[in-house]
Amino acid sequence: MTSNFRALPSVDRLLAQSPLQELAHAYSRDALVGLIRQELQSQRAAISQGQQVPTINGLVEAIQKRATQQWQALPQPVINATGVILHTNLGRAPLSNAALSALELAAQGYSNLEYDLAQGERGSRQTHVDTLLRQLTGAEAGIAVNNNAAAVMLGLAAVASGKQVIVSRGEAVEIGGGFRIPEVLAQSGAALVEVGATNRTYVSDYESAITEHTGALLKVHASNFRVLGFTASPSLEELVALGQKHGIPILHDLGSGCLLDTTHFGLAHEPTPQESIAAGVDLAFFSGDKLLGGPQAGIVVGSKDLVQRLTRHPLARALRLDKLSIAALTATLLHYLKGEATQEIPTWRMIAAPEPALRRRALRWARAIGPTTTLVRGQSTIGAGSLPGETLPTWLVAVNPGGMDGGPDALAARLRSGNPPVIVRIQDNRVLLDPRTVLPGEDPLLLKVVQETMR
Ligand SMILES: *Cc1c(COP(=O)(O)O)cnc(C)c1O
Repeated sequence: MTSNFRALPSVDRLLAQSPLQELAHAYSRDALVGLIRQELQSQRAAISQGQQVPTINGLVEAIQKRATQQWQALPQPVINATGVILHTNLGRAPLSNAALSALELAAQGYSNLEYDLAQGERGSRQTHVDTLLRQLTGAEAGIAVNNNAAAVMLGLAAVASGKQVIVSRGEAVEIGGGFRIPEVLAQSGAALVEVGATNRTYVSDYESAITEHTGALLKVHASNFRVLGFTASPSLEELVALGQKHGIPILHDLGSGCLLDTTHFGLAHEPTPQESIAAGVDLAFFSGDKLLGGPQAGIVVGSKDLVQRLTRHPLARALRLDKLSIAALTATLLHYLKGEATQEIPTWRMIAAPEPALRRRALRWARAIGPTTTLVRGQSTIGAGSLPGETLPTWLVAVNPGGMDGGPDALAARLRSGNPPVIVRIQDNRVLLDPRTVLPGEDPLLLKVVQETMR
C-alpha cells in the first residue's frame, strides 16, 4: 500500500500542471495547495481500500472539481420544480422586485438604519417596522428579529423568565428543524406546565393550572401537522378572557404570519396576526419568510408595554435583524399596505396562479421536452409548515425516464446536477415538474437543463 502511495504525484508536480497553474493564478497558491492536499489524502484513503492509483490527469480533474464545488458563492440558485411553494431547504420565500431593490440599496451604501434624519441624532432600526406592523395588524406595537424561533424565545424570556408558562399538551410540539416548544421554553428560563390531553384541552384545564407563579399562557398554531377527529381546544377569545381575568398575558405563536385570507385561494383558513390582535392576545409571533413572503425574520406584534419589554431585553441585541433583511421586510410589508401583495409577492403569485395558465405552461414544456412526457393533473403544496395537508390543483409534466439506468431517481439526480440544478418531485415512478413554483423567467433555463438531460 505505502509503495502505491509513492506512485501518487507530489504537490509540486501537481502545481506545475497548467490547468492548476491557472487556478493558482485565479485564486492563490496557498489556497490551491490546500485543495491538492485534500485530494491526495482522499486518494491515499481510497488506495488503502484497494483502489488503483489515479492518473495525473484524473487527479487534476478531481482538484478542478473540488475548486468549482468549494469556491463558488453560496447559496447557488436552483430551479424549484417541486410544486412546494415555501420549500425550507430551497430558501423559503423568493423576494419581490421591490424587496430586492430595497435590499440592494441598503447594501450598497449608507442608510438611515438607526439615524433620525429630522433630529440629526441616533434613531431605532425598529421605528419603521413598528409603524408598518401597527398599520397592518392593528397592534399597538411591533418589532422584528432574526426569525420566528428567536421571536418566541425572546418573548418568553422577556415575559415569563423564572415563571411558569401554561401550554396545551397538544401544542407542546416540535415544529421542525430543532424548534421544540418544551426546549425553547427551557432555554428562555420559563417552566413548562402542560395541560389537557393531546387531542382535547379545555379552558378549565388552563384555569386549574394557574397559580401565583404563572407568567403566561402560550398558544401554538399547529402549523405542520393536523390532529383529526375527537379534538377540542379553546378559542383565542376564551383564552384571552381567562388571561384578563387573572392578569396573565396570552402569547400566540402563529408560525406563518399570513396577512391575507387564504380561503380566497381555495385553501383552509390560516389564522392571521390581525385576528390574534383583534381577539386581544398580548403578543403574536410569526415568520417573515413563510406566507408573509418576505426575508427571514421573526415578527412580534402586541401591546406596547410588552413589546417594549422585548425591545429592552438583552437578548434583543443578540437576535436583532440586519439591515438587508429590514430593507426587504419593510418593502414586503408595503405591498400589503398598497393592496398589491397577490400581484407583487412571488409566494402569493404562485398561490394565486390560475389553473388554465399553469396548464398552458405545462403543455408548452411537455411539447418542448418531447415524446417522453405526459401532461397530468396534480397538487402543489404550500410547505414550510404552513397549511398542512392543504393543496392547490395544478398541471404537471410527467417525464418518463424510459430506459435510463436507475429510473426516476437517476433522472432526478441528473437534473440536480444541471446548470442550474433543477429540483423535482418523484411520484409513481415518474419525475414530475410543477410550473407553479418555477419563476416566470426561468422557463428557458429549465427546458435547456431538461432537454440536455434527456439527450
Ligand atoms: C415555522 C414556525 C416557527 C419557526 O419559525 P422560523 O421563522 O423558521 O424560525 C415557530 N413556530 C411555529 C408555529 C412555526 O410554524
